[in-house]
Amino acid sequence: MKVLVIGSGGREHALVRGLRGDPDVSELHAAPGNAGMAADATVHQVDVLQSEAIADLATRLDVALVVIGPEAPLVHGAADAVRAQGIPCFGPSAQAARLEGSKAFAKDVMAAANVPTAMSVVCDTPQQVGDALDRFGAPYVVKDDGLAAGKGVVVTDDRDVAFAHATACGKVVIEEYLDGPEVSMFCVTDGRSVVPLPPAQDFKRAYDGDQGPNTGGMGAYSPLPWLPDGFVDDMLDRVVRPTVDEMRHRGIPFIGALYAGAAITARGVRVVEFNARFGDPDIQPVLARLRSGLGGLLLAAATGTLHQHPAPLWDKASAVSVVVAAQGYPEAPRKGDPVHGIDDAAAMPGVEVLHAGTRLDSSGTVVSGGGRVLTVTALADGIEAARTAVYSAVDRIRLDGSYARSDIALAAARGEVRVPAPHA
Ligand code: AMP
Repeated sequence: MKVLVIGSGGREHALVRGLRGDPDVSELHAAPGNAGMAADATVHQVDVLQSEAIADLATRLDVALVVIGPEAPLVHGAADAVRAQGIPCFGPSAQAARLEGSKAFAKDVMAAANVPTAMSVVCDTPQQVGDALDRFGAPYVVKDDGLAAGKGVVVTDDRDVAFAHATACGKVVIEEYLDGPEVSMFCVTDGRSVVPLPPAQDFKRAYDGDQGPNTGGMGAYSPLPWLPDGFVDDMLDRVVRPTVDEMRHRGIPFIGALYAGAAITARGVRVVEFNARFGDPDIQPVLARLRSGLGGLLLAAATGTLHQHPAPLWDKASAVSVVVAAQGYPEAPRKGDPVHGIDDAAAMPGVEVLHAGTRLDSSGTVVSGGGRVLTVTALADGIEAARTAVYSAVDRIRLDGSYARSDIALAAARGEVRVPAPHA
């Protein structure tokens, strides 16, 4: 089959790599892509916010499946436009993508489906904001209601900072603080059946020790050896299936990747957020472990035949992914610098280098073109070995001013991730 992947980040390069390794995929296209995707697929120019242009490209290429990576085109209706051409699409409709696009909508769905999440209130006025902050107390959690690429959330002990963020955003969700480790739980769904992927954990802050500003994500790993037994089944029963059913009953079936970010608290799992797509970079260590066809799985979700599809197979090895970020990321990333050492790093055993913000300059050199430039992933026997391998590969990448966190998966490797003891 011919497949078209929409997007240009590390997540989309990971999808392209996964699809390229699937013998059922005969031809691979990507738009708009990046320098790395251009080596693995035929890339095409497209404005991802122009849904009709995406649908036209898919029709012209006569693909059997379109896979939409990022949230923005989904919220803009890319999947609707592709499906209107009669082409199967892995990705939710604009309406269903509101699970990610509107925090208030997500809270409403969770309330209706009895899904455990943080207690919260939606606020439009300074009066409501003040009342809500005082009701929940510190640490304060204030979320912009709209899409903000993971950057619209402020968690702070400072009431003035929380109040200022809320009034700057307009409509916000204010909620109780959830105390406990966070897990990225990805599921593939056709709107009815659900296939869970192995959970991962990501690192959102820019610097070591979870310091610095929030980013799209600086690294991730999978599997999580510290997860309580039965975590995946618990998430399926209490969170994912009720949400998928509630969406279908509302007449807006969710087709694609449903990503539940969940905190494991002393009172049990609580949903922190839903995303309507795979996480970047947290899907990357997960896909590095996939040992069965990706194309068939995504096509089954896109065509409503997931119940007939064999369960995916996973490598038991550990995968650790580390983002190489440009100087100045996330505020003002420096661009246009040459990136050296990619082939060198990628030649190391068990190592894969995925491109995010890269492009080719006029001389054919890979140069930085975004805040997160590369994701380096290593697969090895155990987290410690995967960390050693990934960091020796990262050391071979040379990009002026770039930085990477040095503590991705470190606490897990040391057995120091603390899961709160359950209490009623
Ligand atoms: P979100 O965009 O909702 O995922 O929020 C971004 C990050 O803020 C999350 O990954 C958490 O680390 C943090 N966060 C969000 N909501 C809460 C909460 N209720 N309690 C504690 N931390 C939170």
